[in-house]
Amino acid sequence: MVSPQEIEQAAGIIRRGGLVAFPTETVYGLGANALDPIAVAKIFACKERPSFDPLIVHIASLDQVAQLTLSTDERVARLARVFWPGPLTIVLPKSEHVPDIVTSGLDTVGIRMPDHPVALALISASGCPIAAPSANKFGKLSPTKAEHVRKQLHLVDHVLDGGPTRVGIESTVITLHDDGFVVLRQGIITAEELEKVVPRSTSDSTREEQIASPGHIQSHYSPNKPLYIWREYADIPDTRNAAFLSAGSPAPAAFKRVEYLSESGNLYEIAANLFQKMHALEEDEHIEFIVAEPVKEAGIGLAIMDRLRKAAFQYR
Ligand code: AMP
Ligand code: MG
Repeated sequence: MVSPQEIEQAAGIIRRGGLVAFPTETVYGLGANALDPIAVAKIFACKERPSFDPLIVHIASLDQVAQLTLSTDERVARLARVFWPGPLTIVLPKSEHVPDIVTSGLDTVGIRMPDHPVALALISASGCPIAAPSANKFGKLSPTKAEHVRKQLHLVDHVLDGGPTRVGIESTVITLHDDGFVVLRQGIITAEELEKVVPRSTSDSTREEQIASPGHIQSHYSPNKPLYIWREYADIPDTRNAAFLSAGSPAPAAFKRVEYLSESGNLYEIAANLFQKMHALEEDEHIEFIVAEPVKEAGIGLAIMDRLRKAAFQYR
């Protein structure tokens, strides 16, 4: 799939200030040298991303944490031991090496070590941490395949194709308060799992943290046609030209197309298929709108419903 030669070539592009899209275990990322502000500016231009939305910096080894942050918080080492490489982003006070454009002027930086051989090889070969948001236009569906990246972004210097991503939704984002962690964006790693490793804060995220973390924006991750959540809307239009996005149940009415996120209701499978199925339904010209079956809002179900509600928000 991706040869060592192709990794070397892509790392050369990163070192020269270019953009490389690459697979991670969550979704595809759009990467640039995190220490080069001009390279990072290209990410914002390519995604049409507003400058207030900070980027996550991806690392391949733990010593890069010391380069990027001022933090000596021992909880980071504990979290890293259990969850890295993996889909957990930790927001920490940033060092002076991190350009302001990466963090949208915040004095904190989000860091994670992705659990994907291609991502880790690219970061190591580049010799620098890689700033990478999801490789989609701002507000649109996240990419879980290389073809989703090519469909949306045209200013990328190279796309590394590592096949479909395993987790399928973006990382869990946390910040550390004095008394414990606070979840800023829900993901496949749940608060319950994190709590086994470090205490959870009794406070909520502050207003400032919410503004800093557009995971909190109510409309995001949207397909280019209306999406409704089954039973949450009193008046869903006639469904005969619509698609039903099932979480395991049979379609409750006559639909033109039915897609199963998981036949058995398995939440990991639902998360892995969520964006991929929404991309397929977005592309189907015979489908006018999508009706999605909700899942229970607990554990990973929180992350799945977070993405569905944001996809549905503008159609409430
Ligand atoms: P993505 O486009 O999936 O890479 O999104 C990155 C998200 O990570 C941002 O939209 C924020 O929600 C979160 N994030 C990154 N850096 C920070 C930070 N310094 N403070 C708070 N949230 C952050
Ligand atoms: Mg994104």
